[in-house]
Amino acid sequence: MENNFDLQDSFGREHNYLRISITEHCNLRCSYCMPEEGISLTPKSHLMTAEEIIYIAKTFVSYGVTKIRLTGGEPLVRKDAAAIIQELGKLGVDLSITTNGILVPNFITTFKEANIKTINISIDSLVKEKFNKITRRNYFETVFDNIDLLIQEGFKVRLNVVLIKEFNDDEIHDFIKLTKDKNIKIRFIEFMPFSGNQWDKTKLVSYAEIMEIIQSEYAFSEIERLVDAPNDTAKNFKIKSYLGSFAVISSVTNPFCSTCNRIRLTADGKLKNCLFSNSETSLLETLRAGASILPLIQQNLLSKKAVRAGMDDDLKFQNPELFSQNRSMIAIGG
Ligand code: SAM
Ligand code: SF4
Repeated sequence: MENNFDLQDSFGREHNYLRISITEHCNLRCSYCMPEEGISLTPKSHLMTAEEIIYIAKTFVSYGVTKIRLTGGEPLVRKDAAAIIQELGKLGVDLSITTNGILVPNFITTFKEANIKTINISIDSLVKEKFNKITRRNYFETVFDNIDLLIQEGFKVRLNVVLIKEFNDDEIHDFIKLTKDKNIKIRFIEFMPFSGNQWDKTKLVSYAEIMEIIQSEYAFSEIERLVDAPNDTAKNFKIKSYLGSFAVISSVTNPFCSTCNRIRLTADGKLKNCLFSNSETSLLETLRAGASILPLIQQNLLSKKAVRAGMDDDLKFQNPELFSQNRSMIAIGG
């Protein structure tokens, strides 16, 4: 295995954070992520096996990756998810996971053994009917109980909330109130356009609007701007007297591309250097032929654009052709 490779792109950005989607399957059907008609699933033989995932992850670690996040689809529905988590836990990286939370009770020991400290759970409404409507399934209580379970078990819990106008923007205060007595972080995410998710700009709740809503409830002096971690995609805040904190991920209105350190691997073994990128580099054929995947990784990183895969101005977001060729989020891994 090649060593000491610096995972840089042509803008000098170092990529030490690998996000791996381990499945395209999911036990929910969130409307902003999965098209109503579903997606055509990749044949199993074209998906990464557990061994391939581990091999590729090890390769990236040998080139400088220090952080890995597992995602999907829903990563925990994969039958060998526990075995994958256990193996990745041995790599000495900062390992984390983004999950819808339904299956977490089965994985508490696995998470602990793999040294997973932080878990991101997606929950877009605190109102049962609305949660069940957007996820097109009925797991509200399960997810809610499992959030408490994770907190009790000592994990740092971050709740991902995709904001959609006139759907859940009226719940921003309720989400922030959750941070009063719970040491959790709420991450408000701007709704992003992907194939089949019926995005349009009128549904977007922007960073500016989110802050305006928060400032309508809390005085300026009550809101503390926290220091963001290096490469953080979120702008972090807290209400001074509250235990937890909140953040805004403003991929659409305030992209954070200049410090991007992420590269994504899809469940079918394709590298994506940006969430918004249509161009992908397949690693699997080369890996299965026994050849080095290093040149492919290099080529993929060198083709990375400066800003959002070329979606660099507002007008491009008005043009659905530009984002409808991209995969649905469920097949990328957010
Ligand atoms: N199933 C897991 C979950 O829901 O947390 C992991 C996969 S999901 C694709 C990862 C993250 O992407 C979730 O937090 C989800 O809310 C976010 N996401 C999906 N579609 C999105 C969109 N159109 N805009 C913004 N975030 C999105
Ligand atoms: Fe499934 Fe997560 Fe997408 Fe919802 S956001 S459909 S839980 S992959």
